[in-house]
Amino acid sequence: MEAYQLTRSKRKSLSIVIGRDGTIQVKAPNWLPKYQIDQFVCQKAGWIEEKRSELHMLQQNKKAHTFQEGDSFLVSGEAYRLTFQSPAQHLAEGKNGYRSPAQFSGREKDGFQNPVQHPVEGQDGFQNPVQLLEEEKGAGRVVWSREDKRFILEAGDTTPLGVKKRLEQWYIHLGKQVFPERVRFYYPLAARLAKSIGKEIDSVNRITIRNQKTRWGSCSSKGNLNFNWRLLMAPAEILDYVVVHELCHLLYLNHSKQFWQAVGKILPDYPKRRSWLKANGILLEWEESR
Ligand SMILES: [Zn+2]
Repeated sequence: MEAYQLTRSKRKSLSIVIGRDGTIQVKAPNWLPKYQIDQFVCQKAGWIEEKRSELHMLQQNKKAHTFQEGDSFLVSGEAYRLTFQSPAQHLAEGKNGYRSPAQFSGREKDGFQNPVQHPVEGQDGFQNPVQLLEEEKGAGRVVWSREDKRFILEAGDTTPLGVKKRLEQWYIHLGKQVFPERVRFYYPLAARLAKSIGKEIDSVNRITIRNQKTRWGSCSSKGNLNFNWRLLMAPAEILDYVVVHELCHLLYLNHSKQFWQAVGKILPDYPKRRSWLKANGILLEWEESR
C-alpha cells in the first residue's frame, strides 16, 4: 500500500483526495482504527492511479514560463508577447498604443491611462480599450499594448522572478477594475432574480482580488467577494461565470439545487463554463520552466 497523509478529526466518514503534488490525503474520524483506513486506501488503488495520471497529463499541458522576452501571457484568453524596452526606446518609437512617461499628468497619478468605461449593457469590460500602466517609482512600468499584442516591460527588474512579480501585480491591478465592473453588471440581475422569488440580497460590501492557487472566488455572509486574479487569463465568459457564481451566493450560501438554478437563470450555459474551468483551470497556473 502507498504512503498517505492522515488527518483525523471529529468527522463521521472517510475521505480521500489526491493533492496537486500527487500525494494521497486521507481524512478519517478520530475513532477509526488504522487498519480500516489502510484497507480503505487499498480499495482505492485503481482510483488513485487514475487520478494521478489525469493530474500528470494536466501538468504536462501546463504552460511553462520563462518570464523572459518572447514568453507570452494570456489576457482574456488571448496571448500577449512579452518584450522589454527602455522608456527612451518607447519615446523614440513614438507609438501611440500607450502613453509615454513624459505625458503622464498629475491627474492620472493612479497609473491608469484611461479609466475603463462602465460596460454598456451586454458589453464586457474587456472590449473597452483598457490600457493600464503600472507605475512604481523606479520599478519600471508594465504596459499592455492590445494593438500589437504585447506586454511591454519598461526598465525595472527583468530577472525571471522580477518579471513574474511585476506581471502578477499588473494582473491584480487589472482585476481591481475588471471584477468590480463585472459585479456591477451582474448584480442587478441577481437582485432581480432574488426579488422574483420574494427574497432580497445584500449589497456587495467589498471586492478583493487575491493571489490564490486553488480557489477561483468566494463570498462571505457579510457580502465580501474575493476573486482570483488568474481568472483574468481565462476567456471573459469564464470570468463572468465565477462572478455570477459568487453573486448567487448572496442568495444562497451553499451549493444547493436552488443555488445552481439561480446561476442557470442568469447564465443558462453555465455548465459549459463551469466544466471549462474544471478542465482548464490548472492551465492558468504559472509553471516556471526549468
Ligand atoms: Zn460556490
